[in-house]
Amino acid sequence: MAVLLIAEINDGTLAMDATAKAVAAAAPLGDVTVLAVGATAKDAADEAATIEGVSKVLVAEDALYGHRLAEPTAALIVSLAGDYSHIVAPATTDAKNILPRVAALLDVMVLTDVTSVVDADTFERPVYAGNAMQTVKSKDEKKVITFRTSTFDAAATGGSAAVEDIAAAEDPALSEWVEDKVAESDRPELTSAKIVVSGGRGVGSEEDFVIIEKLADKLGAAVGASRAAVDSGFAPNDWQVGQTGKVVAPDLYVACGISGAIQHLAGMKDSKIIVAINKDEEAPIFQVADFGLVADLFEAVPALTEKV
Ligand code: FAD
Repeated sequence: MAVLLIAEINDGTLAMDATAKAVAAAAPLGDVTVLAVGATAKDAADEAATIEGVSKVLVAEDALYGHRLAEPTAALIVSLAGDYSHIVAPATTDAKNILPRVAALLDVMVLTDVTSVVDADTFERPVYAGNAMQTVKSKDEKKVITFRTSTFDAAATGGSAAVEDIAAAEDPALSEWVEDKVAESDRPELTSAKIVVSGGRGVGSEEDFVIIEKLADKLGAAVGASRAAVDSGFAPNDWQVGQTGKVVAPDLYVACGISGAIQHLAGMKDSKIIVAINKDEEAPIFQVADFGLVADLFEAVPALTEKV
């Protein structure tokens, strides 16, 4: 058995945490070859080669892969697929865009958000917003898998795998890059942050969300939000945590003015320590919280920020 693992690369930089966690997840499936693909991917490939458990790194560096269009990347992966039994990636936004296309082109199913490898054909993954775990056995000859990285520890570094250049595949010319609108932030990336401070509808406005951001910045945390906060325009869409947002499992999750709806819990209940600040002592968030503070967030959050 052989695994082709698609490295997560942003602007030429390897997302080490997500990639190393996917390597650890894939290790029981066989020999792991990492594919580093991008307009600039060489440095990322060299870094991926240091992840323990990686046996080889393939680098496809070409302008064709410069704007993260899924179609040319999927074509490249399919051109390599013959040598691999498993094609895997961390369950990032990019991988969720690319791997279903790969699966469709190979006429196999895609196994998304896998949290545990039972054997080479059998995998566990959450369904119904994390309320049930499904064990799924695939009869497909090739398995296409995304791993939910928050449930795996990252593979260590210290390896020195061979790095090999490969040619770009033929461009299927199905899509064309127009523009990127990228939100710049000095804060840690939400899904890999060690601490996340989130605000909900209780925060009340975009202006008042600043108190959540101030606490986050004091703690060196990423900022998250409930869907109600996002839908109300208090916070940008890419801060949303939950079933239809991002799944996080930081060491510390601080939920401020969030009721704890099942769809929100689906995105954060695996956090190691959960702190909830809510003025309603009956709020369901307190059922999953390790520490709960029944308080008005407009008093408690600035006071906490001050103390930190
Ligand atoms: P509310 O439920 O309105 O809770 C606000 C809380 O703030 C209350 O508990 C209140 O007591 C408290 N509060 C108010 N004022 C203060 C104050 N001054 N101080 C302290 N506390 C205060 N939701 C997500 O978050 N993420 C998802 O990905 C997501 N996906 C969904 C997918 C589907 C298909 C559906 C149907 C829903 C989804 N939702 C999701 C929405 C979810 O059901 C809830 O509506 C949402 O999570 C509620 O957000 P909230 O807790 O911020 O708001």
